Amino acid sequence: MMVIDGKKTATEIRARLRGRTAALEEKYGKKVGLAVVLIGDDPASLGYVRNKVSGCEEAGVRDFAHYLPPDTTQAQAEELVRSLASDDAVHGILVQLPLPKHLDAERILACIPSSKDVDGFSAENIGKLALGEEGIVACTPLGVMELLRRYSVELRGKRAVVVGRSNIVGRPMALLLLNADATVTVCHSRTENLAEECARADILVAAVGKPNFITADMVKDGAVVVDVGINRVDGKLVGDVDFSSVSQKASLITPVPGGVGPMTIAMLLTNVVTCAERAMK
Ligand code: NAP
Repeated sequence: MMVIDGKKTATEIRARLRGRTAALEEKYGKKVGLAVVLIGDDPASLGYVRNKVSGCEEAGVRDFAHYLPPDTTQAQAEELVRSLASDDAVHGILVQLPLPKHLDAERILACIPSSKDVDGFSAENIGKLALGEEGIVACTPLGVMELLRRYSVELRGKRAVVVGRSNIVGRPMALLLLNADATVTVCHSRTENLAEECARADILVAAVGKPNFITADMVKDGAVVVDVGINRVDGKLVGDVDFSSVSQKASLITPVPGGVGPMTIAMLLTNVVTCAERAMK
């Protein structure tokens, strides 16, 4: 069994981005820019935004961070995102979710043009993914694909099972695996015989949001197991996979923390640079 080192992989990706941003600056005389919008004072969101902003500096990306108060109106939020959409110095826009309850997130996200949609959440980008066309792909599933690629996991013809069908992880994950010629099954809370479905997987991706949900009896010997889950139990981070038992059966497995988590910001920054390259060309 081998443990996938997401932290090391993410560090390598981030270091390489500096070269891409420097090349754009040299060729076009412009810096790559990411706008991050945080509305409200949710401490977890603030932490995520701080990490994203500090990642920008290292990758040579200029950050435009906008911290708006919890009582921001729908009109103010939409106006800010629209102004960022028409700002040439901004190549990517990220609105940190969740938003305060009085705001309509869908309408605010709809103000982000798909060419600056670095989260890959827009209907256009998800549509492109579904059609197998080039677009921008959601960071977490993109990070999983990058880990699988770097660890030389064969996907073509293999049976992949994704547990979870959220718009930000499970669904795009399944589409990416399908586009890579895997035979894909998507499981969710209504799936019958979940354990049997999982036990048939050559590649098992867990994105459920329940600590230690995937146990050894649900895993085939030699399977590749990817744990997207981030759950806090007694102040500790725990994945969706019961690492201690599942790692006895898997051939390759991601830990939590240090697996998929660090890849998400690395792929976000990659998406920003990709958007900038397309915009500048
Ligand atoms: P989500 O929106 O809550 O979706 C969870 C999915 O799991 C749903 O599709 C749900 O099915 C399914 N599910 C729930 N209970 C189940 C059960 N008993 N059996 C089978 N399926 C079940 O969560 P998410 O946003 O996709 O996130 C999933 C996990 O990944 C969370 O722990 C989250 O913190 C983590 N995450 C990590 C990163 C990262 O950077 N590593 C990024 C994003 C999310 P239904 O659709 O039927 O309800």
